Amino acid sequence: RAKYLTKITDINKMYIDKILKEGDIVVDATMGNGYDTKYLAEKVGSSGFVYSFDIQEEAISSTKKRLLESNLENRVKLILDGHENMGQYVDEEVSCVLFNLGYLPGFKHMVVTKPQTTIKAIEASLKILKPHGIVSIAIYTGHPGGEDEKNSVYDFVSTLDQKEFNVLESSFLNQINNPPRLILIEKKKIY
Ligand code: SAM
Repeated sequence: RAKYLTKITDINKMYIDKILKEGDIVVDATMGNGYDTKYLAEKVGSSGFVYSFDIQEEAISSTKKRLLESNLENRVKLILDGHENMGQYVDEEVSCVLFNLGYLPGFKHMVVTKPQTTIKAIEASLKILKPHGIVSIAIYTGHPGGEDEKNSVYDFVSTLDQKEFNVLESSFLNQINNPPRLILIEKKKIY
């Protein structure tokens, strides 16, 4: 069992923990069962706010329950709509947008994120991101369509102007069975 180089989602949190502050406004672009929404809500504190998106009703009810259990429901807005439409709901600058792509194991329907809407949502995220804010994208390729989505995301983020953004990739190079990958995008301060 690894101590430091653990799951990609834990590696992600090492970065995100560094940048999130009390009072921040953030987005969970893929709510699912709400683990990340809850994590973000705890991090931004009672003066912060989380917008959380999913297209499955079950995600909303599962996440609502989780937040109620922890008294975090007042600082989160759960939105039943695609993350590609996030610009319609969020008009403030945000310090972080989290994407956890793919599907949610254990759900009735196999609803997966799709290249076209994922790219639109990443574009929308970059627009509402404040300087030094981070967009974080965890990518899985083991399911049908996953490899295509990964390629679309890589093609898109690789073309971002380095004067405006830093784009970092992390992945476990020696893992078998389609290890997940993590992309982090920081918006640079524009003078
Ligand atoms: N972060 C979640 C958690 O903590 O449980 C897991 C997310 S799961 C890997 C991916 C989620 O993205 C699924 O719940 C799926 O319904 C959702 N999804 C798929 N397409 C979407 C879209 N266009 N907009 C928002 N969510 C979408």
